[in-house]
Amino acid sequence: MAFMTFEAFLILSAFALFSGILAYLYWINLGLEKKLTKIQALPKQPTQSEPTFYDAATQLPNQRLFLDHLSFEITHSKAPPKMIVVIKLSVNNLNEVSALYGREFGNNYFYELSKRLQKVVLETTIVARTQEDEFSILESEFKYVSEVLNFIYRLRAVLCTSYEYQNQLVIGQIGIGVALYPNDTDKVEELYDYASLALQLCNRSQSDYEFYQQSVNLQVKAQKGLINDLYEAVQSEQFYLVYQPQIDIQDNDKIIGAEVLIRWEHPTRGLVPPNIFIPVAEEAGLIYKIDEWVLEQACKQSSYWHKHGLNIKLAVNVSADHFNQPSFISKVSQFIFKYGVNPRLLELEITETAVMLEITKALEHMNEIKSMGLSLALDDFGTGYSSLGYLRQFPVDKLKIEASFVKEMVNNKSDSALTKGIIHLGHDLGLKVLAEAVENKDQLELLKSFGCDMVQGYYFSKPLLPKAFEEYLIKFQK
Ligand code: C2E
Ligand code: CA
Repeated sequence: MAFMTFEAFLILSAFALFSGILAYLYWINLGLEKKLTKIQALPKQPTQSEPTFYDAATQLPNQRLFLDHLSFEITHSKAPPKMIVVIKLSVNNLNEVSALYGREFGNNYFYELSKRLQKVVLETTIVARTQEDEFSILESEFKYVSEVLNFIYRLRAVLCTSYEYQNQLVIGQIGIGVALYPNDTDKVEELYDYASLALQLCNRSQSDYEFYQQSVNLQVKAQKGLINDLYEAVQSEQFYLVYQPQIDIQDNDKIIGAEVLIRWEHPTRGLVPPNIFIPVAEEAGLIYKIDEWVLEQACKQSSYWHKHGLNIKLAVNVSADHFNQPSFISKVSQFIFKYGVNPRLLELEITETAVMLEITKALEHMNEIKSMGLSLALDDFGTGYSSLGYLRQFPVDKLKIEASFVKEMVNNKSDSALTKGIIHLGHDLGLKVLAEAVENKDQLELLKSFGCDMVQGYYFSKPLLPKAFEEYLIKFQK
């Protein structure tokens, strides 16, 4: 101060103050600019002005914003391009949970999953809700596929556990499909679609996760080919029916009925198993025609056998979707009337899924079927999602224990306990219980000791053509 005049001090102070204000303004502006750039480029939080970018229930980005993020990442990926991972994650039991415990429960379940998901991902990960029952995840920080795998294991560990809400327990059931940039494609829409294809494959094969492979594309093409051939098959009657005897093991192994099973003899592919074409027919909406054809042929066969003194109850499989169709009941009564079938000789096999999809409709149809004099069997029992409370209300006559329990029962204590449990549960509810796919004497003896009423399976007979079935019946009943 001793070396400065008073005017010089004033000028310097004003200068310092001015530069301070400038620096402050610059700093504020910089922050503002940063914020603006971030929000304008890729908004992560919902804003009033852009509500269509977010899912209202979870506040997560929607499909549109997810694709924007993906497009941004791919266009800004410098050479050599870094790995960008797109994961599709489906919540496979959301519909069942909502049907069983109500929509509010379902919404809460999905919301809880979304919260758990956000806890397990990195700061930079984008998690979006891209469909009613689906999340999409975008991750660009991984270098190696092993990191992606670790991430998937973490996702499964966090999501596939139990959820409790209003004293009900639900286990998280998810499917995961993965596609990688630039390995699989460098196009935004394709990458997204490839993750969907991988997810479809995962859910169809019931695996924990699937990565997209060229072969998935081939499978989709093959499936399209199969759909075209199925149309052809429906028109030109390439189907035929076989009949598998059902045996009463508590009454001298008497044949009491037969399950009607469809076969498809394709002109070039050969025999296509129903496990392959039924799901495809269901997806393509062709199952109604096929089920209808089976029902009509079974009615014809029943009335033919009845006229020739063979009073055998025929059990016809009905697809989940078809059973709940408004026209289903009138079709059944139409065929019964047309072929003069005794309704006591006709049984419909429906799965738990059919019932759970639309409980009210299914219950209504079940009651109508029963009032017409037909009987009802609950197929593949034990694998689905039946609530025991609901089971009491179903007017079914029979539970069919899923083949996988029977298969492992002799060597696997928990399968044996489950089989025994289902038999006792069925009996407590006044139902008959039939075990499927009985292949050997050990299984038969164990089932007899559990008090199981009926069986079907290769131990007694494979599904047979009508003539062979008649011969079997004559030989066996002697
Ligand atoms: P499902 O209703 O569980 O039928 C029983 C399946 O077990 C049949 O397979 C039958 O051939 C097979 N099976 C019978 N005994 C044994 C055994 O001892 N061991 C083993 N390992 N398997 C045995 P299939 O005929 O291949 O049918 C598979 C599935 O396709 C059926 O499972 C059913 O869900 C569906 N399906 C078959 N025919 C029809 C139909 O006419 N309409 C509809 N909607 N679905 C059908
Ligand atoms: Ca069946």
